[in-house]
Amino acid sequence: MHFDVIIIGGSFAGISAALPLARARRKILVIDAGERRNRFAAVSHGFLGQDGREPGLIVSKARQQLERYPTVHWLNAKAQAAERTSNGFAIEIDGKPMTEGRRLILAAGVADRLPAIPGLQERWGKSVFHCPYCHGYELDQGRIGVIASGEHSMHHALMLPDWGETTFFTNGIVVPNADQAAQLRARAVKVETTPVREIAGDRADDGRIVAMDGLFTLTRTSVQIPWAEQLGCVLEEGPLGQFIWTDAVKQTTAKGIFACGDAARAAGSVALAVGDGALAGTAAHQSLMFGSD
Ligand SMILES: Cc1cc2nc3c(=O)[nH]c(=O)nc-3n(C[C@H](O)[C@H](O)[C@H](O)COP(=O)(O)OP(=O)(O)OC[C@H]3O[C@@H](n4cnc5c(N)ncnc54)[C@H](O)[C@@H]3O)c2cc1C
Repeated sequence: MHFDVIIIGGSFAGISAALPLARARRKILVIDAGERRNRFAAVSHGFLGQDGREPGLIVSKARQQLERYPTVHWLNAKAQAAERTSNGFAIEIDGKPMTEGRRLILAAGVADRLPAIPGLQERWGKSVFHCPYCHGYELDQGRIGVIASGEHSMHHALMLPDWGETTFFTNGIVVPNADQAAQLRARAVKVETTPVREIAGDRADDGRIVAMDGLFTLTRTSVQIPWAEQLGCVLEEGPLGQFIWTDAVKQTTAKGIFACGDAARAAGSVALAVGDGALAGTAAHQSLMFGSD
């Protein structure tokens, strides 16, 4: 089958990119592997009109609305590779080039790699978070731990006092210099240098046990489609990991390929993914009308 646009990733960014194309009656295919980044969290915060809603419900409602447009096709699958052809791009699924599209939108998000501390992974999205704007308010100004995972954790620890009484677990990863120690004192951040052995319980207490109401840590992120580079997309190094470089309308460095959402910015959110998706979808449509292929 041949489509005007193939969108890889059918979550916040991908569905948002699909909508303007569907409304322009373009024949599109959304391919989605169904593993949203925030699937570990019961609620999503900070997205206009949907604050406190279950993230899966936001996406399923959006998909339902998208699929009312007759030119939309949806495939629950993982796109394993893509190659440039004379007509655009061919996408490989299950080891075979299955389907072709004139344009490609990469909306496949990122994967999070957490610090290797026992007990952290299973609490991810429940009592361990990365984004204070998303999950800080609910900790009710309680005891917050920031677990260092890299250089950028200092900035993280300096932010968190706006959401509660903050302890910075430097964990042998960050050694604050005199200036940084002064900055931490000025923000009333306590510094705990003893390495964290384990996260235990939901509101944990140590061999010394230190009780916390919630934890924050920064993850390393990686783009979910490693083959983007082979197609000519330049990746940029951000403070938390690589992402696909795009211009102001979400065009990548590879002709005919757009990227949006977490995959194409240094740090993301639902609202930003939706905004980026709208940009990518309209830019892909404009390129079908006015671009030279
Ligand atoms: C624990 C946690 C809690 C969060 N809470 C909030 C919050 O409260 N508020 C907020 O604004 N943000 C929150 N975020 C951030 C938010 O999840 C992301 O910014 C948002 O999901 C980005 O949307 P996206 O569409 O770019 O990517 P995603 O939502 O990650 O979707 C990418 C989609 O692409 C699919 N995909 C990947 N590879 C392929 C492939 N090869 N083929 C086909 N499909 C593929 C995936 O399976 C997935 O369905 C949270 C993140 C985490 C980790």
